[in-house]
Amino acid sequence: METVALKRSARILGGHPWIFSNELSTSPKRFAPGSLVRAIDRQGVLLGIGYINPHSLISIRLLTNRDEPIDEGFFRARILSAIEYRKKVCGEEKVKDSLRLVFSEADFLPGLIVDKYGGCLAVQFLTLGMEGFREIILRLLDELFNPKTIVLRNDGSSRALEGIGLEKTVIKGDLTELPRIAEGSAVFEVNPLLGQKTGFFLDQCENRLALKGLVKGGTGLDIFSYTGAWGIQAALNDAKITGIDSSADAINQAIKNAGINGVSDRCSYVKADAFAFLRENAASGNTYDFIILDPPAFAKSRARLKEALRAYRDLNALSMRLVKKGGVLATSSCSHHVSREAFTDTLNMAARDAGKRLRVIEARSQAKDHPALLAVPETEYLKCFLLEVS
Ligand code: SAH
Repeated sequence: METVALKRSARILGGHPWIFSNELSTSPKRFAPGSLVRAIDRQGVLLGIGYINPHSLISIRLLTNRDEPIDEGFFRARILSAIEYRKKVCGEEKVKDSLRLVFSEADFLPGLIVDKYGGCLAVQFLTLGMEGFREIILRLLDELFNPKTIVLRNDGSSRALEGIGLEKTVIKGDLTELPRIAEGSAVFEVNPLLGQKTGFFLDQCENRLALKGLVKGGTGLDIFSYTGAWGIQAALNDAKITGIDSSADAINQAIKNAGINGVSDRCSYVKADAFAFLRENAASGNTYDFIILDPPAFAKSRARLKEALRAYRDLNALSMRLVKKGGVLATSSCSHHVSREAFTDTLNMAARDAGKRLRVIEARSQAKDHPALLAVPETEYLKCFLLEVS
């Protein structure tokens, strides 16, 4: 294994696993892409072992800060520890049913995502370095969970930046029967091969249940409804909801999910652009007891931040105008590049645009199966506010 010296090590000592090219004392191009390296400080003290990729913005992602072999035993211990963590904070039932089992840096396995949907595992290798351990990791997952189905969702845009190919494929079993998962008393069918992300937005699970607790009948909008999860939770508390999404496939799955939960009579879906739908509704004078706004990440890069904040502001202002006095807005941003402060500022500007006042019922984040490391701010990405609008 090659050794690379760092010019600066404060962030690493603070517990962050990323090393950028300008922090290395030599060019990262000297190293084989994806290979393991030992990172040392100016005095030659070991900082950790990680994998290097000269083509990536982040040159090295550390796997460990100890001197230990990176082998099957290492990955077994890391995966078992991710399971133990979830048993402790999410409960055994969740681990048996559905949740995110491995969340990359936050589980000290940078570049690896594993989602569990009942007997199906959906796996993503996001980086070249982690891709190198693919055989070991897949073998371990098979041994530890004995899943009926394993789906590889190696189609994330990060792979292109890492210089690795994209692929979406079932590598064990089949999907003739799609997995069904539990979320509170709701049941959702998930398509891990063709759905967005790995098929389902597990990160909003606790937020949806928190909103459900505030809903007692009434009417609501589920904007960016995808496969219907938020709106169906509300419908299970007797609300009548309309879901809006631009994807016909997502809407078809939402209709199916409403049927599975016995709430088809209270759920309708419209294929439309969310902005256009909200503008038309504003003109029609309709108002709602609650509105759910869970858009895709608008700020895919830091360069798009200003544009993204404008979109969040417009969407939220339009929605606030449609909420009845004393009603609820459940609004989220999953953009890594939008900080909690920037999102709150945006919501305040939207409230001013709409002439509304906002009271924070709850300020929330991602579900506990998507842990965040305090030393790695990038691991906390989801902002979700349950607001009373008046
Ligand atoms: N709320 C969902 C997740 C939403 S993901 C859940 O909890 O499951 C974002 C969704 O927004 C996707 O389904 C995508 O098809 C949809 N979408 C993206 N741009 C859109 C637009 N301009 N108008 C309407 N829907 C859009």
